[in-house]
Amino acid sequence: MRERLSVAAYKDGILEGNRFVLSRAITLIESNLERDAVLSRALIAEILPHTGNSLRIGITGVPGVGKSTFIESFGLMLAALGKKIAILAIDPSSQLSRGSILGDKTRMEALAHHPHAYIRPSAAGKSLGGVARKTREAMLLCEAAGFDTIIIETVGVGQSETLVKNMVDFFLLLMLAGAGDELQGIKRGIMEMADAIAINKADADNLQKAKAAASQYKSALHLFPPTPSGWIPKVKTCSAIEQTGIKDIWKMITEFEQHTQIKGFFQHNRQEQNLSWLHETISEQLEQNFYNNPYIKQELKQKEKLVAQGLKDPITMAQELIKGYQKKVVYNNK
Ligand code: GDP
Repeated sequence: MRERLSVAAYKDGILEGNRFVLSRAITLIESNLERDAVLSRALIAEILPHTGNSLRIGITGVPGVGKSTFIESFGLMLAALGKKIAILAIDPSSQLSRGSILGDKTRMEALAHHPHAYIRPSAAGKSLGGVARKTREAMLLCEAAGFDTIIIETVGVGQSETLVKNMVDFFLLLMLAGAGDELQGIKRGIMEMADAIAINKADADNLQKAKAAASQYKSALHLFPPTPSGWIPKVKTCSAIEQTGIKDIWKMITEFEQHTQIKGFFQHNRQEQNLSWLHETISEQLEQNFYNNPYIKQELKQKEKLVAQGLKDPITMAQELIKGYQKKVVYNNK
């Protein structure tokens, strides 16, 4: 990374809506270096009073369902309405390699060049939790930079959608007609998280199938317990390529926003999310401190060998490591 700026310079640049500074600030919060972590924590604390003024939308679906095509159509429509859109992604595969499932920067070409849009590819990281934290902080930086609509994209496999659900106001699940739920890797849990399902590729020969699938999903959703806000999840059809049904989805999202604002649920949901953020941060910091401790680094290897060879049991070894760590931490702080 190039020279760091001062916290004040990052903050001023971001509040002025300077994208160059915004990008550098996101790179800073994505860094795993301890000195960058100190700087980025200070920056987040500084910009926090300037955040929260956006609508946060999560979008998930299996690879190939049309997420990037949809986000491009949806984003261009919003940009035409004068909205400022930031698009972030959580890619579970980025733990192994940089963004291999969600692809690279060549996606959403038209939107990427729009002056009202900002696209940032997924952060890489050792743990999905770490990637999620970076995305949440990037979202806050984007809000402080004046983006009023944030889209967080993820793939509908694994646990990344739970993490996204935990940081957005509205969660949209994209699906296909006739692919079978198993094929789409969609577990009941993901459907339960969705505030709406959109059956994409409702065009040409696929239109009737999409409509039929929509009515099936509508009946299926009725069997789920009611959501805390009283919002009944909607099912829509759309074609990201032909750009049909996209405006209707936006209309529905604004209705959702009104509905949850009136009932106080919108704020309540964000408060709950702040609590999860607190607890996730504690867990992540504790874990990092533990594994970065020189004593643990040394001891862990030996104990791993003993456990792997079946000479010692994992629980006893874990307890010994934790006790040893606690002693070191207390001793070092004296
Ligand atoms: P992602 O992996 O979920 O991001 O999916 P993509 O947006 O990359 O789309 C996967 C493929 O589906 C591409 O070949 C798209 O052109 C195609 N596709 C996306 N949306 C539509 C749609 O609404 N209708 C049709 N017919 N094809 C679509």
